[in-house]
Amino acid sequence: MIVMDGVSLAKLVIASGNRHKYEEFRGLLAPLGIELLFGGDFDAPIEVEETGTTFVENATLKAAAWAQYAGLPAISDDSGIEVRALGWQPGIYSSRIGGEDDEACRQWLISNMADKTDRFARYAAALVLAFPDGKPHWHTLAYCNGSVIQDKRGTNGFGYDPLFIPEGYDQTFGELPASVKSRISHRAKASQAFIEMLHSLRSR
Ligand code: IMP
Repeated sequence: MIVMDGVSLAKLVIASGNRHKYEEFRGLLAPLGIELLFGGDFDAPIEVEETGTTFVENATLKAAAWAQYAGLPAISDDSGIEVRALGWQPGIYSSRIGGEDDEACRQWLISNMADKTDRFARYAAALVLAFPDGKPHWHTLAYCNGSVIQDKRGTNGFGYDPLFIPEGYDQTFGELPASVKSRISHRAKASQAFIEMLHSLRSR
């Protein structure tokens, strides 16, 4: 059994109503004997307002609220894209900078980057583990560096993927197979850091 700061991690809640995220994390945690419960399966899944100013703060708000509500340790992630030529915008506002849907957000990025020569951008993902005491007990922040193009390419992935070419490749995440993204993405790196932390607890 994995124990951290005196608390068992045999059962964790994913602080999200996104079933895709749940399935992804469940697969990663199963080999460690950790049971992952889906936030959306609780009687009254809670809505947490993202009032933080950083990815880590927002992920902490969600993980802490869910851990207190469920009485179990909870993990939460928060992610987005940061563009250097735009003063690292849209950052925590990535999902709503251009309006309600992904296409409006992509159009916001295309029009704001039209006259920029510096194309550097990075995806960021924070992952936070909070306990039922309402406090964060571990967190990580991982990046996937790359660049933004002006014309969308490919239909894989979601969000800004058709506009984002990861470093070391010449295709966008919209064009690259999912197997590449799930190895090199910001979320993959944050998840790897979490798994490594759990392994280190187990071998103590
Ligand atoms: P959330 O962490 O699920 O709230 O995602 C925040 C927003 O960041 C998404 O709605 C996307 O606009 C953007 N984003 C985060 N990760 C990715 C990614 O892997 N590909 C494309 N867009 C992403």
